[in-house]
Amino acid sequence: SREIHLTAYPKGEPGPGNFELAEVDIPAPKDGEVLVRNAWLSVDPYMRGRMSGIRTYVDPFQIGQAMEGGAVGEVIESNNPKFAKGDWVLSMNGWREAYVSDGKGLQKIDTSLLPPQAYLHIAGLTGMTAYVGIKRIIDLKEGETLWMSAGAGAVGSAGIQFAKAMGAKVVATAGGKEKCDFCLEIGADAVVDYKDTGNLAKAIREAAGGGVDGYFENVGGSHWTAALEVLKPKGRIAACGMIQRYNDASAQPLPDNLTNIVAKSLMIRGFIVTDHMDMIGDFMTDLAQWMMAGKIQTRETVRDGIASMPDAFLGLFRGENFGKMLVKL
Ligand code: NDP
Repeated sequence: SREIHLTAYPKGEPGPGNFELAEVDIPAPKDGEVLVRNAWLSVDPYMRGRMSGIRTYVDPFQIGQAMEGGAVGEVIESNNPKFAKGDWVLSMNGWREAYVSDGKGLQKIDTSLLPPQAYLHIAGLTGMTAYVGIKRIIDLKEGETLWMSAGAGAVGSAGIQFAKAMGAKVVATAGGKEKCDFCLEIGADAVVDYKDTGNLAKAIREAAGGGVDGYFENVGGSHWTAALEVLKPKGRIAACGMIQRYNDASAQPLPDNLTNIVAKSLMIRGFIVTDHMDMIGDFMTDLAQWMMAGKIQTRETVRDGIASMPDAFLGLFRGENFGKMLVKL
């Protein structure tokens, strides 16, 4: 069986040389254990933080060991009464083809209504992230305007559709015409190609027909500066991620318009989705309803085979994904 190891903590932008495909023996499952063959693996921007060798809100990856991440797979052999052969399970044992587990941290998933990989995006933490950010952090109200950044990505495309289903107006940003068309296709009222605009704040203002009430921060840098310009008084920012900064090798200067936070009484709140799991019941109820009403489309960008994991991951920073970036084994 094969798995991906990190060979060194990258400084700045990681490259293929930071990863190694390793061959390992998977032992037979002992009493109380299960053998799982992964079918779908997730790559996510937050994994960059785990490659830095320091503890942020999660521990760093260990050099020379299998990396970790979301995965869904099938139980092939079970000596654990809680799991049967043929069960599908969600785990954090990604970046590998197969594993043996005592069952801790494995969650059985229902594949009768949704394909298994949906639990790695719309019906999993990706969907939850968009939901928590919009509903709890921004507390978006019907009729208000939301700016969703990285709108064609996994969290962004979920968020556009959730905000629309909640009765809000949505302006999205994304890189390139095709991605902008995709944002409109899934319901954004207006879209701005941030790669094709000289003045992002002005373009957002025009697209929104004025200011915005909420900003869903996935990008940071240029977007964060523009957000402080276009938010209305009492506007709210959900600080979810800042991918534009993840590969920085040194600190960047702060935007020079921070006084807008005071002048406009802005609310800025960061969040980590796993601290808000009390919302999972509400999320599942709303999602099921929206899906049944035909309000939710999902798109996946799929790479093949374990060896493509590093490139799939690096592709997130090159904007190569529409919707969720996944690797199929
Ligand atoms: P995406 O599917 O959105 O993929 C990343 C996208 O980011 C790319 O497709 C690209 O889109 C955009 N991007 C990459 N580099 C840049 C750049 N330099 N400037 C502007 N845009 C860039 O990933 P996710 O949906 O999984 O994650 C979105 C954000 O949410 C990330 O910041 C992530 O860290 C964060 N997150 C936070 C969580 C939390 O608990 N707080 C949980 C999950 C995700 P484009 O081509 O349009 O530029």
